[in-house]
Amino acid sequence: MHSYRIAIVGAGVAGLTQALWLQRQGHRISLFESGSEDLAHHCSHVGAGMLAPYCELSEAEAEICRWGAAALELWRQLVPTLARPVHMSCNGTLVVAHHQDRAGMHHLAERIKHAGFEPRLRWLQRSELHELEPELEGRFSTGLYLTPEGEIDPRSLLPALVETLRRDGAQLHFATRVDALAPGEIHAQGQRHAFDWVVDCRGLAASDTWPALRGVRGEILTLRSPDVQLHRPIRMMHPRYPLYIVPRPGNRFVVGATSIESDSLRPPTVRSSLELLSAAYALHPAFAEAEIVEMKTQCRPTLPDHLPAIRQQDNLLQVNGLYRHGYLLSPFLAETVATFIGEQRWPETAAVLRRSLDTVTERP
Ligand SMILES: Cc1cc2nc3c(=O)[nH]c(=O)nc-3n(C[C@H](O)[C@H](O)[C@H](O)COP(=O)(O)OP(=O)(O)OC[C@H]3O[C@@H](n4cnc5c(N)ncnc54)[C@H](O)[C@@H]3O)c2cc1C
Repeated sequence: MHSYRIAIVGAGVAGLTQALWLQRQGHRISLFESGSEDLAHHCSHVGAGMLAPYCELSEAEAEICRWGAAALELWRQLVPTLARPVHMSCNGTLVVAHHQDRAGMHHLAERIKHAGFEPRLRWLQRSELHELEPELEGRFSTGLYLTPEGEIDPRSLLPALVETLRRDGAQLHFATRVDALAPGEIHAQGQRHAFDWVVDCRGLAASDTWPALRGVRGEILTLRSPDVQLHRPIRMMHPRYPLYIVPRPGNRFVVGATSIESDSLRPPTVRSSLELLSAAYALHPAFAEAEIVEMKTQCRPTLPDHLPAIRQQDNLLQVNGLYRHGYLLSPFLAETVATFIGEQRWPETAAVLRRSLDTVTERP
């Protein structure tokens, strides 16, 4: 296979995963990122890292579920090959609901069945629920158990992707803003750089050339409690947005996330914090004594149909619109683009993802 010189612009989860996939196909990678190497500034830093294709069917299209299921398998294969350990677990997701929100749980089960994934769900009665998560005993009479689903910790994944790229010979340019990009070239720090391919993974910043992109605000908390033991992510049905509590090493629990039609990056509001904290407390009263370690806000890069997209103009590709699914879907998108560049053909599975720069209808 031909070895191309490829520029990746943006070191979020989309850009880093894309860079790694292409590097592993033997291409020469240069990555350009305007932020610093600690990567504490972007949407991917704040994401919870839920890998829950079936749970997402409460809101998302069946494509997200199919692509997400394929991507989960790709994560499982990729993670053990990275240059440093990454926390990832695949113990399924437990969905629970308080009495008034039960309808949402039945709706989710129906959606999963309708999409053809019934074998992935199991209704649990009180005793089975207790077996799976002993500390939730007595609080919920039924639950939905979805497998295989999991979670990956962005705070260990992103540095591991950077280290692996560097170890394997990629040129990494942090604190380097790309001022303009075009098919086969980028402009940065007053210079023009030519490449065989340019892949634009700038997230929301790409709205300068892709006006249909908008931000959907998400707020998220991290708690620390030595008094709570959970073995898998718990999804709580909520009338306004899907809520989850994700256990992480070091007695940490990620509680998220709101979903608000706004591109404001102001700090989390009192209302959102109260909703997230009361969900945690309702799940397990020992969260009352937890420490609040972190409260963050970011905006998800989102297209009007809430699906990701790949746009092509000659040898410029743009990968964007990852919305709530950047962690869930990145390996699938990376593999799709790598197949296209390597074999000069789009895989069948990519039909819905592909859009041409010329034909796409933009938001006014
Ligand atoms: C609260 C919250 C919770 C979430 N939870 C989950 C979850 O559980 N599971 C899941 O799958 N997804 C989740 N997501 C969604 C996920 O985080 C996003 O879909 C994903 O981070 C988007 O990644 P990205 O690489 O496209 O964009 P980004 O992470 O924003 O990365 C884009 C990068 O491009 C760089 N850049 C921009 N302009 C330039 C330029 N001109 N030159 C060079 N570099 C540039 C930026 O600095 C940035 O580093 C969540 C999101 C939020 C906000």
